[in-house]
Amino acid sequence: MSFIGYDIQADRRYCFSGRDILVDENGLPASPAELLALSPVSVGDSQCGASAFEFPGGQTVPSHCRFIPLRQYFATNSEEEVAVVSRMKALLGWKKATRFCPCCASLLEPHPKEAAMVCPNCGTSQYPKIEPCVIVVIKKGDKILLLKHKTRNQDIYACLAGFVEAGESIEHALRREVREETGLEITGIRYMGSQAWPFPYQLMIGFIADYLSGEIQIQEDEISEALWCDACNLPNIPAAGSISRYLIEYACDEIRSRRKK
Ligand SMILES: [Zn+2]
Repeated sequence: MSFIGYDIQADRRYCFSGRDILVDENGLPASPAELLALSPVSVGDSQCGASAFEFPGGQTVPSHCRFIPLRQYFATNSEEEVAVVSRMKALLGWKKATRFCPCCASLLEPHPKEAAMVCPNCGTSQYPKIEPCVIVVIKKGDKILLLKHKTRNQDIYACLAGFVEAGESIEHALRREVREETGLEITGIRYMGSQAWPFPYQLMIGFIADYLSGEIQIQEDEISEALWCDACNLPNIPAAGSISRYLIEYACDEIRSRRKK
C-alpha cells in the first residue's frame, strides 16, 4: 500500500531539480531538512520506503552538495537504487502536474489507500502516469542503425525510439516508428527488456530487430542523421545505465561473436 503525499521519510529521501538529483561530497543522495521545509511539492511512497521533494526555487545549494544529472546517477548505482529513484522522480513530477480533477476541476486529495489522488467532489481517482515507448536497435549484417536527434542529445548516436499511441499494440508501434523515422521495414523482432525512464513518465520497452527492406529516408523534423555503424567501431553512444546502451552493446556483442566463428 502506498500513500502519495504522506510519510516524508528522512532515511531514503531525495531532492530533485529538473532532470538532476542533489548529492553530497561522496556522491550519495542529499536532502537537507531545511530545503524540504521550503519545497513546493513533496511525495512519500511506502511501497519503496522512500520520499522525494523538489528543490525550492530561489534557494542556494548547500556548500557540501551539488546537483548531478540523473542519467549520471543511474550509470553509477545499482539496479535496485535506480528503480527506487526512478519511481520517486516519476511520482514527484506526476504529483506536481496532477492537482485538479479532470472531470470537475476540484482540488484532488491523496487517496486514503492507494498510490493515487482522488477527487473529494466526484470520487474520480487519478493514478500515476506511465507513457510506454518502444526502443530498438536494427541489425543489418555487421552493422547496426543509430540515429542522431535534431533537438535532444545532439552529440550522441542513439537507438530509434518513440511513443506507443492510443489503440496500438507495442509491435505495431515499433514497426510504425521505424517506418516513420527511417523509411525501413524490419523483421525478426526480439523483446530484450524494459526500463522505467522518468523524464517524465516513460516506460522504455526494448527490442532488437533485423533489417528487412527499404532505403533510409529520415524524418527530417525529428532526426538529423541515421547511420549504419560498424559493431567494432561505434560513434559516441548513450552512457551506461540506459536501456539504449544495453541494446547497442547486446547487438554489437552478437555481431562480434558471429564474426569470430
Ligand atoms: Zn471531480
